[in-house]
Amino acid sequence: MMFIALGAILFIVLLLVFTASLKIGWGVFIRSQCFIDTNAKEIALTFDDGPHPEHTPKLLDLLKEKEIQAAFFVIGEQAEKYPEIIKRVIAEGHILGIHSFYHKPSFTICSRQAVIDDLTRCRNTIEEISQTKVSLFRPPFGVTNPNIAAAVKFLKMTSVGWSIRSFDTTGKNESRILKRIAKSLFPGAIVLLHDRLPECASLVGKLLVLLDERGYKVVRL
Ligand SMILES: [Zn+2]
Repeated sequence: MMFIALGAILFIVLLLVFTASLKIGWGVFIRSQCFIDTNAKEIALTFDDGPHPEHTPKLLDLLKEKEIQAAFFVIGEQAEKYPEIIKRVIAEGHILGIHSFYHKPSFTICSRQAVIDDLTRCRNTIEEISQTKVSLFRPPFGVTNPNIAAAVKFLKMTSVGWSIRSFDTTGKNESRILKRIAKSLFPGAIVLLHDRLPECASLVGKLLVLLDERGYKVVRL
């Protein structure tokens, strides 16, 4: 009987640890910035997984036209391939952060040293291309754990999460994604989007109209 009770407790603890690793907003392993400190109707847009050679420039064109600055959490491997886009992101006043060098699922089970090595390589690559200091990190897949937490602390970086996950990667149609964002809006929200997707610029264009209708302004993170 006692073994069954102990087993049940162990199972619940493991389940909680696993769930906590997926819930960046809980801040169990790392405290991540998941909203901006404001009472005004202001939100920040963040884009992961770029740069993409076609979709990122299209998005940058739109943001430039609308005079909006966002944050881009880029993959080191992609940045090496498309350094001109990284330079453009900085030249147009956006924020650059890192999102790991390879963005492989195995990142989430890497040793502490392997995480440090990956993030160091990614940061060095981005800093060299952009000629700016990079201090922001968004965990790949939003997964956090003790090794990632230790690496972030060791590298003195700030982890950035989100308050509204758009689920733009799930293949849902634009109106469903927009509806989801619209119903979750609040002052200070950080919205997670992905500039590797072909529909990113179109989605953001519609999102900006929606935000305008609701009286929200997009601000830099
Ligand atoms: Zn990602």
